[in-house]
Amino acid sequence: MIIKLNILIFIILIISSLCNAFMRNINRINNIKLRMAFDDEDLPLRIGHGFDIHRLIEGPKLVIGGVTIPHTKGADAHSDGDAMYHSIVDAILGALTLPDIGQLFPDNDKQWKGADSSIFMEEAYKKMTERGYKIGNLDITLILQSPKVKDIKPAMKENIVKLLRTTDGRVNIKARTHEKVDSIGEGNSYACHVVVMLQRVK
Ligand code: MG
Repeated sequence: MIIKLNILIFIILIISSLCNAFMRNINRINNIKLRMAFDDEDLPLRIGHGFDIHRLIEGPKLVIGGVTIPHTKGADAHSDGDAMYHSIVDAILGALTLPDIGQLFPDNDKQWKGADSSIFMEEAYKKMTERGYKIGNLDITLILQSPKVKDIKPAMKENIVKLLRTTDGRVNIKARTHEKVDSIGEGNSYACHVVVMLQRVK
C-alpha cells in the first residue's frame, strides 16, 4: 500500500513539473511574439537620433565625416573616433529599434582598434536596407570649437552620400562652436548630433 502511494506521489510530481515547464514555454513564446510584433512594425517612416562625444588629445589624427582634418589634436577613441559617423550609425540603429553602436561594436573588442568608422556606416546601411528602408533625410550638427570646417563640409557630405547610397538633397551638415563653454568650447572635446528619417521602400 505504501509503495502504491509513493508511486502515485511520484506520478503527481512528474505531471506537475511537466505542466510548469509547459506554462513557462507558453509565456516565453508569448513574450517573443510581443517583441517581434514591435520590431516588425510596418512603419512608412522612422525617426532616429544619434549623439557622440570624444575627448581631443595630442597624438591621434582628427577624422570627422571620413575626412582627416589638419589639427594639433585628434580624438581619444578605440576606433578612429569619427563622432559624425558614430552619431549617424546610432541614429539609423535607433530608428530601426536595434541595439546601439557600442553594443554592436564594443570598444573592448580588439578587431575595432583604430578601425575606419566607414565600416560601421556600411553595417548600418546593410541593416537599414535589410529591413526595407532608405535614407529619407539626415540632419547633422557638428559641435567643434576649432578648426573651422566650413570648407571641409562638402567632402564630409560626399562621403556620407556615397556610404549611405543617397543623394545630396537628403544630407545636411551644420557646424558650430560651443562658444568657448565647457570642454568642447575649450577645445578638449568635440561632439555631434544627428537626426535621421528613414523611408520604407518595400
Ligand atoms: Mg564614438
